[in-house]
Amino acid sequence: RLLPWSAPKVHEPKMRRGNHMPPPTPEPLASLEGRNVSAWFGTHQVLDRVSLTMPAGVITSLIGPSGCGKSTFLRILNRMHELVPSASLAGEVLLDGQDIYDAERKLVDARKSIGMVFQKPNPFPAMSIYDNVIAGLKLTGVRADNDRKDFLVESSLQKAGLWKEVKDRLRSPGGGLSGGQQQRLCIARSLAVMPRVLLMDEPCSALDPTSTRVIEETMLELVNDVTIVIVTHNMQQAQRVSTQCAFFLASQGTPGLIVEHGDTEAMFDSPIDPRTFDYVNGRF
Ligand code: ADP
Ligand code: MG
Repeated sequence: RLLPWSAPKVHEPKMRRGNHMPPPTPEPLASLEGRNVSAWFGTHQVLDRVSLTMPAGVITSLIGPSGCGKSTFLRILNRMHELVPSASLAGEVLLDGQDIYDAERKLVDARKSIGMVFQKPNPFPAMSIYDNVIAGLKLTGVRADNDRKDFLVESSLQKAGLWKEVKDRLRSPGGGLSGGQQQRLCIARSLAVMPRVLLMDEPCSALDPTSTRVIEETMLELVNDVTIVIVTHNMQQAQRVSTQCAFFLASQGTPGLIVEHGDTEAMFDSPIDPRTFDYVNGRF
């Protein structure tokens, strides 16, 4: 059943000085694109033809009120949505132009290429810091000998900005770290399988302002290697870290859609849709 729908408004991308210019890396940066993504839980439609390109090497922020389908969209981007028995979807998700839902492609490939970090830091609390970092390898079928594991642990913790703090206690339990450190441990765990995209669902909502800034700095470093999509309710954060933004909205029982997307600065300075104006100015 198709509901009345109007095309999202678009801000043209602007080149921003010094922002996220990717340096040469062995693994090329990947773009992610959702095309006409609709989603349902049973008969309840929660997303309506969401199309969004998340370019390689930049941070994209998904913003909008609770319940408008941001997390659902994120879960569709790495095939977690289909794990909910009542869930269904329409549309396409392309990683560097390749449909991740292609019948030929395995679920595990999408998981390996597209990592996810959640709102609440969820390391395995009793497991050592070291084992936490490599916990994803087995699940995604990555084989590694001990030298390779050592390398992955150090490089992932470095990238997550946690190495210096934990290098002398890699064998102590992950649960002993502070909230912000635990979140960076989860980021390291995602990075250990060498994903090309990192999805982060409100990664700082459970953290104090200092840890939040540390994670933001980590993201701005990471985006040189990994394409990043975050969901955030923090408008300052969206402006600090992201090059582009998409404003999601679900009004009065209609499914979530993108009202407006494009260059972050343009969207905050001169929103096109009055609903975007109200949202970015804290009016709802
Ligand atoms: P947001 O992240 O923007 O707050 P969500 O994607 O979590 O929004 O939710 C979008 C809609 O989908 C909401 O109406 C929510 O109640 C519904 N929903 C989310 N997860 C499930 C689920 N597992 N089963 C049924 N409905 C769900
Ligand atoms: Mg959510």
